[in-house]
Amino acid sequence: MGDKVKYLLEESQIPKRWYNIQADLPKPAPPVLHPGTLQPVGPDDLAPLFPMALIMQEVSTEREVEIPEPVREVYRQWRPSPLFRARRLEKALGTPAKIFYKYEGVSPAGSHKPNTAVAQAFYNKQEGITKLSTETGAGQWGSSLAFAGALFGLEVKVFMVRVSYDQKPYRRALMETYGARCLPSPSDTTQFGRSVLEKDPKHPGSLGIAISEAVEIAATNDDTKYALGSVLNHVLLHQTVIGLEAIEQMAMADAYPDVIVGCTGGGSNFAGIAFPFIGAGLRGGAKPRIVAVEPAACPSLTRGKYAYDFGDTGHMTPLAKMHTLGSTFTPPGFHAGGLRYHGMSPLLSHMKELGLLEAVAYHQTECFKAGVTFARAEGILPAPEANHAVKGAIEEALRCKREGKAETILFNLCGHGHFDMQAYIDYTQGKLVDQNYDEKELAMALAGLPSVPEPA
Ligand SMILES: *Cc1c(COP(=O)(O)O)cnc(C)c1O
Repeated sequence: MGDKVKYLLEESQIPKRWYNIQADLPKPAPPVLHPGTLQPVGPDDLAPLFPMALIMQEVSTEREVEIPEPVREVYRQWRPSPLFRARRLEKALGTPAKIFYKYEGVSPAGSHKPNTAVAQAFYNKQEGITKLSTETGAGQWGSSLAFAGALFGLEVKVFMVRVSYDQKPYRRALMETYGARCLPSPSDTTQFGRSVLEKDPKHPGSLGIAISEAVEIAATNDDTKYALGSVLNHVLLHQTVIGLEAIEQMAMADAYPDVIVGCTGGGSNFAGIAFPFIGAGLRGGAKPRIVAVEPAACPSLTRGKYAYDFGDTGHMTPLAKMHTLGSTFTPPGFHAGGLRYHGMSPLLSHMKELGLLEAVAYHQTECFKAGVTFARAEGILPAPEANHAVKGAIEEALRCKREGKAETILFNLCGHGHFDMQAYIDYTQGKLVDQNYDEKELAMALAGLPSVPEPA
């Protein structure tokens, strides 16, 4: 078994339950607060935005949450996803390390995001909802929810960050093919969008603004709920199918990771691969090193402040304690659109504080260089976001080479980059530049964090 390149599970081995790490943490994460009262939010506060089943998952401390059969049935189309041993990459790097990667680009939308989109669409449908509103940056989440909406017969409205709407017409076309409506954000269809356009008619948009617009639509329409593609506990929960499968597949390879690497935007694909392994460690098993890789131009985990902040620019969401660059911070326009978010999942942020994971940041050109090395060895062209994970894994493999250690590295290849070829063209032509965020803007955004007294 151990010398294969590709490790496949049977369809019947798709996990029957998601793994909830909240059951195993030594200390619970701080509560989410109502921005007016600064008291912990209850299920009723969230009910206008999410179906009750997802709200209950958000606060659940049960270790295992059953995956509904209709969701598993859809998963069956591309799950279990393959685990590969990157033998040709190992050879190209001359490393004694063993490199494994879990490939989530085999889903219809091309990334890990349908793992949660399908579940969210299912629970909304089950509670009689007919419309979903959401935001998208580069379009990965929007196309995943559009796909899930098509399967479950839900109308999907997507607010797409305007720069991406203009620059990435193919993701938009994919969403529209699945039957979703896609609007550039800021738009004139919401009060918040209009207020942004009034100040700056050419505003390029940001994820924080698009979230405000999508939340406003859900909050003001009874038949519409909001769906978020990352950050929240229930999203991370759904993504644990990745790590649960990987544990079985690593066993087929007679291996167990010493290091696990993933890229972090809002933290969901990283949590997806890492949480089941971290949980096994918390319950007395081996404790691999866990490395989160983020873009140096939007470094929430490595440079952000661990503080209560809003999830959106319009300040319509509750306050969550997380590593944040400030909700008014607009990251520069680098290519990994899925990693351009001012905050980080509160659960991952809390776990970083507990010392359960490490974080590093890299610039985009070094990540594309790693992605090209990977593509030339393994044949799969990673998404710009996934290039950060590839870079992190290659760095670990080169460390092993320097130290003469035959460690086992596992990383999540969260999506393919077939819709991102302009980024590769720019890289090949030497046009890709490493953008630094504006230090002054960061300082201002952090100075503007809401003031929340420490609990006694
Ligand atoms: C959305 C996206 C990300 C970032 O989101 P996470 O929640 O941090 O996983 C990373 N990679 C790809 C391919 C994405 O589509």
